[in-house]
Amino acid sequence: MVWSPETGSQPVRGAIRTAWAAEGAESGALGYPVAAQTCTDGNCTQTFERGAITRARTGETTVQRTIDNAADAAVVVNKQRPLNPVTYVPENLVNVEGQQLRSDAASALQQLKDAAAADGVAMSVMSGYRSYEKQAGLYNNYVAQYGQEVADTISARPGHSEHQTGLAVDIASPDGTCSLQACFKDTAAGQWAAANAHRFGFIIRYPEGASETTGYSYEPWHLRYVGTDIAVSIHSQGIATLEEYLGLPPASDY
Ligand SMILES: [Zn+2]
Repeated sequence: MVWSPETGSQPVRGAIRTAWAAEGAESGALGYPVAAQTCTDGNCTQTFERGAITRARTGETTVQRTIDNAADAAVVVNKQRPLNPVTYVPENLVNVEGQQLRSDAASALQQLKDAAAADGVAMSVMSGYRSYEKQAGLYNNYVAQYGQEVADTISARPGHSEHQTGLAVDIASPDGTCSLQACFKDTAAGQWAAANAHRFGFIIRYPEGASETTGYSYEPWHLRYVGTDIAVSIHSQGIATLEEYLGLPPASDY
C-alpha cells in the first residue's frame, strides 16, 4: 500500500511494483499511484501522478512518463534530455506582450502578473516561445561571440531549450533594471517572483548554486510553468531543482 494525502492509499503489486521501484518509486519521475491497477484480458495498467505502467499478458512491462512528453506541462528538457522530436512545435501558442506562450502557461502568467500588480509590483515579459530555428540562431551567435564552452553555460543548444516548449518565460522589471542578470533577484519583480511564482505553477528553473544539476548559471528571471501540483510541492519541500524533485540525474553537460 502506498499513501499520500492527494492520492489516498493505493496498492502497487508484482511486476508493476518492480518497474515503479526502478523509476524511483514515489520519489521518482512517476510519483505516487493515483489508482489501483486495472486488468483486461490479462493486460494490466496502473496510473501514477506522472505516467502509467502497463504489464502485458506476456509479462513485458512498459513505462510511460509524462516528463518525456513535450506536450505535457511536466516535460523535462535539459542538456541530457532533448525535446522529442527536437523540432517540436507546441500547439495552442497565444500572444503575451508580443511574445508567445502555450495557452495554459499564458493564463497562469497573466494571473501571476495580476497578483504582482495588486501587490504594487510591475513585471514585463521579455521572451517566451522560441522555435528550433530561432534557438539555433541565438546559440550560434553566442558561440561566435564567446566560444562554445561559455555559450553552453548561458544558452541552450537547439532542441534542448525550455523556451521551445512554450512553457518558459523570461520576466523583467519594466524599467530594465538588471535584465537577464543575476541581480534581477534583488529587484521588486525578482523578489516577488521568487516568493510567489509557485502559487501560479511556475518555478525558478535555474536557481542559484545549482548549475552542476541544471547545467546553467543562476537565472532568477527564467520561469518555467510546470503546473501548480509540482510547483507547490517543490516549493514546500524546499527542493532546488526539477531534476532533484523527479529523481533524475544531473544534467551539467551535453
Ligand atoms: Zn529563459
